[in-house]
Amino acid sequence: MFPLGQGLFFFLAGTALSSFSLATVYRLERDLSLWARSACEGCSKSLGPLDLIPLLGWVFRRGACPHCAYKIPLRYPLLELAGGILALGLYLWGGAGPETYRALALWFGLGLISWLDFKTGQIYTLPIVFLAVLQGLYLGLWAPEARVDSLIGLLCGAGFFYWVSLLYRFFRGREGLGEGDASLLGLLGFTFGWSALLPLVFLSACLGVIGGVSLIIAGKTGWSDQLPYGPYLALSAALYAAAPEFWEHYFHLF
Ligand SMILES: [Zn+2]
Repeated sequence: MFPLGQGLFFFLAGTALSSFSLATVYRLERDLSLWARSACEGCSKSLGPLDLIPLLGWVFRRGACPHCAYKIPLRYPLLELAGGILALGLYLWGGAGPETYRALALWFGLGLISWLDFKTGQIYTLPIVFLAVLQGLYLGLWAPEARVDSLIGLLCGAGFFYWVSLLYRFFRGREGLGEGDASLLGLLGFTFGWSALLPLVFLSACLGVIGGVSLIIAGKTGWSDQLPYGPYLALSAALYAAAPEFWEHYFHLF
């Protein structure tokens, strides 16, 4: 049996991070200020402190705005609940050490980055810088033996997409893979070490082809459209992190 208080803390932190991500995506997607007070989507009245509590706010209000009876979409409390379960799962898996806090920041950060990429078509630099700074702290304080691996991963990861995007521009005459993809792969190399880069590039390319072709078949996009690549990279990072030894065994070059 795990300590109940710690488990509850991680669950609540997960719902709060999820709620924060939802608000951030909502605002950036609509070009709203990140610092504005939260307001009802139906009547624009400011929300009270009670409404801002993740999960419980929705329960208190029985899923509707008290002023205009606007129904709060069910996906909000469900995603907050999912965030809580994810954070609790990370805690049960790894305990309450620095590894778990690092994983928590990484998964919510990558989730936010790929969701924003999906919704707005761009990879935001700020969360990447934030995660890179956290990883730098982690390396400095708890994992000095991984420093060299991580730095090589950062340089090769960011560099790889730089060259790919130069080639792409040369052959197609326009932008395909953005600088955002380069900094995201740089971050992943910095986080997982350089030996993760080959499996990550391979996995994300496979997922990208599957995802892109399904979107085209479903008629949601055309061949010439620019597709967001960030979500595939983030998904590959999740697959990689689930079993690093497995992937490195199959991509063992040196
Ligand atoms: Zn309202």
